This record gives sequence, structure tokens and C-alpha cells, in this order.
Amino acid sequence: MSEATQTSGGVEERTFQTEVQQLLHLLIHSLYTHSDVFLRELISNASDALDKVRFRSLTDRDIADPNAPLEIDIQVNTSAKTLTIRDSGIGMTRDEVNQNIGTIAHSGSAEFIKKLSAAKDQDEKAKLQLIGQFGVGFYSVFMVAERVVLTTRSADPQAQAVLWESAGGGTYTLSAADRRERGTELKIYLRGDCEEYLDAHRLEQVIRRHSDYVGYPIKVAGKQVNSGSALWTRPRSQVTEEQYCEFYTHLSGDREKPLAYEHVAVDVPIQFYSVLYVPRQSPMELLFRPEPRIALDLYVKRVFIQDDCKELLPMYLRFVRGVVDCDDLPLNVSRENLQHNPVVVKIRANLVRRLLGLIENMAKNRPEDYLVFWRAYGIVLKEGIATDHEHHEQLSRLLRYPSSLGETPEALVSLQDYLDRMKEGQEQIYYLAGEQGAVAPSPLLDAFRQRGLEVLFLTDPVDEWVMTRLEKYEGKAFQAVDAEEVDLGKQTRIEGVEEDREQTIELISFLKKTLAERVADVRESQRLTDSPCALVTPKGGLSHNMERLMKMADREFAPARRVLEINPRHPVIRNLGAHLEKKRQGAQLEEWAHFLVDYVLLGEGTVEDPQRVVRNLQTIMGGASAHLAAEA
Ligand code: ADP
Repeated sequence: MSEATQTSGGVEERTFQTEVQQLLHLLIHSLYTHSDVFLRELISNASDALDKVRFRSLTDRDIADPNAPLEIDIQVNTSAKTLTIRDSGIGMTRDEVNQNIGTIAHSGSAEFIKKLSAAKDQDEKAKLQLIGQFGVGFYSVFMVAERVVLTTRSADPQAQAVLWESAGGGTYTLSAADRRERGTELKIYLRGDCEEYLDAHRLEQVIRRHSDYVGYPIKVAGKQVNSGSALWTRPRSQVTEEQYCEFYTHLSGDREKPLAYEHVAVDVPIQFYSVLYVPRQSPMELLFRPEPRIALDLYVKRVFIQDDCKELLPMYLRFVRGVVDCDDLPLNVSRENLQHNPVVVKIRANLVRRLLGLIENMAKNRPEDYLVFWRAYGIVLKEGIATDHEHHEQLSRLLRYPSSLGETPEALVSLQDYLDRMKEGQEQIYYLAGEQGAVAPSPLLDAFRQRGLEVLFLTDPVDEWVMTRLEKYEGKAFQAVDAEEVDLGKQTRIEGVEEDREQTIELISFLKKTLAERVADVRESQRLTDSPCALVTPKGGLSHNMERLMKMADREFAPARRVLEINPRHPVIRNLGAHLEKKRQGAQLEEWAHFLVDYVLLGEGTVEDPQRVVRNLQTIMGGASAHLAAEA
């Protein structure tokens, strides 16, 4: 909060919150080339204030100036070089002025300032985008103002009018004012280099361009310059892309164009309008805050009723922004009676259908944008697989994964891409779940690579769970490649390598005995080629990745033992077998047995006893270096 520093003659002088001071400094000194935006910001605030008073007047008869027309009025005074923006909106009390204009009412303000300062040397666009994201609208007035005088009177009939004044330095003053009308008036003393805004034509042009979505009349010197009807009630053919984008900026504060949008107008069985936007990027906190919101504003017959309307969209679509306006709901609709309301249920079903269609369309026709979308919201969309059974099919078409056949590690494929290039006779969709970086080099992929079989990489912790929910895609079941039951048929033998069956059988029985505490079983592998061994999940068991997640959730969770598969064609295994045949038992061989398991764990990044691994590696290094010396 700001600090009161001094009071004299009823005028109270206060200091801006430090963050605001820093912000003002940056606005004044580094963003002056985009000064047009100040007008849009102030009109946007006026429009919000009008929305609020219209809503209040529905339920509250005792309101100041009940008959004042709802409009925004702009006057210029060329001799005084002032621009005055007046609205008949909700106004502010003294406390509200202090709260709203003097502090940045966002918890992330310090972080914002840090980011903005860091962006100092970056281009203007990056900075504007940052400012948009954090909603610092009002302060943009100091991009053009030398001094600002704000007079406001709250709609509360008992409230005293207040006068707020600042030159954008470190301080502002507050005093009582004798304004009678409800609403807010902002008198802007323009800086010498900003006198262009005294030109009514220039103002009209900026307003038509940036504020035409506003549903209230905006008048410049008495002449209405905007269309004045709510944008969503207009026919699609009469709204330009630019206007849709301006409206989006008004709703979200985000100045970047949305990734996609949709304008819905439905007449039967119920009547409603909606404009929906998919932002290019959503702040993390919007998606992952403890109590997520649904950023849809609900209007009834053009009157703003409430934001955060959770009944209108499922949570997994919470990245969407927009408005819904329905004629078939009562104006006095409350949060309680929105729940289970049949009209709302119908609207919601329609919106989900439209949105999934919009997203799918982007996936089909604008794959590059879709990747941006997927990277931003894929993780949220996957929640839909858990909660929205009805749309499983559509949602599964939207999934994307890296794959063993990807041209780059970042390349992503859809399940349909996978089906399209499946090998003839292939019955399953193969995947490997695990840590990013650990999946691609896994030895379990050898056999798949050799046969040209594609394997999807599931590196997001929820991915494997999503697969289990879906079970199938287009009739093909999902199959983890680290499951014991995966059978790819006989391995092509490595040329010139003779196997000694007896030796293998003996080695297996030795390993079983030695590793009884660590693995469930030891088997001969059919799938390994270049690697000596691998660990796989026994039939019916939880996959290793699932266990990893369980352990993250519950420290006490004891993972089940896996099956060790060995590759008898690999020189390491053959040499161990040969050694065993000659030596029978021995501590050294036991250490080797453990090392086989640790070797796999190292690759997965989950080694249990690093000290043992280090010890064993030291022995191995000793042997190998002796070899090296002998060669020299
Ligand atoms: P934002 O609009 O993103 O909240 P602003 O800095 O533009 O940020 O405005 C801060 C707050 O000041 C608004 O949320 C609103 O409560 C109040 N405010 C600004 N302009 C007006 C106005 N013309 N009438 C009433 N309240 C206003």
C-alpha cells in the first residue's frame, strides 16, 4: 500500500507503491512510441465501470444518478491542452481510489517489474506484451500526460466525491471534490509532444480502430464515433479480424493476437451469443493456480452478470477467454442457480463442441500454430481425458508425442500419424514412458528400431495414465515396450556368434540366486541387440514409470521388483557365462551380477546405491586400464 506522507488543508499527499514508481518510470521513458494505447486503456476502464453500474442497478434501487445515460464522453480543450474522458460508471470511493490507483493490485507486481526491467533492452513489443499481461492499464496515461486530475464519485449515494492528482512522479494527492454526477472524469494535461490528441479526427480514428467493440456510445465533442452495440451481437460478416483482436485485448489485457477465435450465435433451442478466444500464451499462474478460474464473462441481455463462470466450461478448457451472452436467463441469475441450470448445461455443451472443433481445425490446417498451442496447453487438455469421457475421441485426436522416428527430438506426432505409418500386421501402438532424455537411449528400443517399429515417448508424468484411460486408438491398443509380455518374435541373430545354451542357462540360474532381493526373475531376452541387459515390468505389474510417480506421491511406496532380461549374444554376457563355467562361484562374479542391474538403473537415472556402482566401476576401470597398459 501507499504511505500517507502529509496532510494539509484537506489535501493528502501520498507516495506511490515502489513498484508503481518503477513502472511509471519505464512507461514514460521507454514506451512512448505506442502512446495510442493509453486511450484504449482508459476507454476499456470506463466500459468496465459502466458494466458494473449497470449490473448494480439491477438489484439496487438506491444508487446515485439512476437515470444517467450510460456513455463515455470525450472533450478536448485546445487552449488549455487538455483531454477529458468522462464516464457515468460505477465510480470510486476514496478507499477504492487508493487501492486501485496507487498500487498494482497484483501479487506478481514485483516479479513484473523485474521482468520489465530485464526487458529494457528488448524490443517494444516484448515490453508492451508484458505490460498487457500484468494489466497496468490506467498508468499508461502517463505516456502522454504531464499531469492528470481524476475526479470520481461512487454510485453509492452516500459517497463523497474525491479528487486524485498526480504528475506521475513519486507521489499523488487526494482531496475532497464537489462533483455531483456519478462516475469518473479524467482530465489529462497533455505533454508538449503529445498534442496530436487534441485533434478530434485523430481521436476518432484511434477510437474506431481500437475501441469499436465497446457496447456503449463513445462521444468525441458530442458526436458518437463507435458502433455502440456489443460486438458479439453483430453479424460475423460485419466484424473485422482487427476488431475481434481489439475485443480480445480488452478482455484479457493481452496485446498479442489470439491463436484462434470463434464467434457463436445460436437461436434454437436457446438463444445465446459467444465470442471465444484461445490466447497465444497463458501465464502459468492462470493455468496452475490452486483455484483455477474460467475466464468467461457471462452477460444476460447485454448486461454483464459475472466473470469466472465455472458452469460454462469444463476445467480442462480454462485457457479459453471470452464472453457469453444469453437472452434466456433471468437478469437476476445468481451463482447458485447457475448450477444445474438446463439453459447453462446446453450452452456449455455447445461451447465445448465449438472449441474442440476450433482446436482440431487449427491442428489440421495450421500445424505450426497448433504446436504453439500444444506446448502451452497440452498438459491441461490431457485432464479432459480423465474428466470428459464424452469427448475422448476428439481429445485423443489432439494428443501429440515425441517418437523414436521423429526427425528431431522436438518433433511431435499425432496418434493418427502413428497409425498411418504403422508396419503391416502391426497390431499395437508402442510407447515408452520415462524421464525426458532417458527414453530415447533406452536399450529396450533396439529391437523396435531394428524392425522399423515406431515407439512413442511419453515424458510427461500424466501421459502413461492418459494411455491407460484411453486403452485404444482406432481399435489399436496401447502397449508399453518395457512390459514383459511384449513379443516381437525371434531376434535376428548376430552374425558369427555361437551361443552356448548350457552356459546361458547356468548364468541365468546364478543371477536369479544372487539377485533374488533385487529382481523378480531373470530371463533370456529376445529383444536386445546392442545392449547386455534390460529391466522389464512383469506381466500385470505397474510400469516402472507409474511406480516412479507413485513414489513421488508417497515416499513409503515400495516399487515391485522387475524382471532382468539378459542378452546371451552380447560379449559381456558371454564372458560372464564363460567365467562362471570355469570359476563356479565367487565374490567378483556376484559384484558383476549387481552391476548388470545398476547399469540399467544408471541409464534410467534412478540408481539406488551409487556407492556400490562407484566401487564396481573402479574395479572395472582397474581391469580395463591394465589392458590398456598391456597394449602399449
Ligand atoms: P485494470 O483495469 O487491469 O484492473 P487499471 O490500472 O486500468 O487496471 O485500473 C485499476 C482499477 O482502477 C480498475 O480495476 C478499477 O477498479 C479502477 N478504475 C480505473 N478506471 C476506472 C473508472 N473509469 N471508473 C471506475 N473505476 C476505475
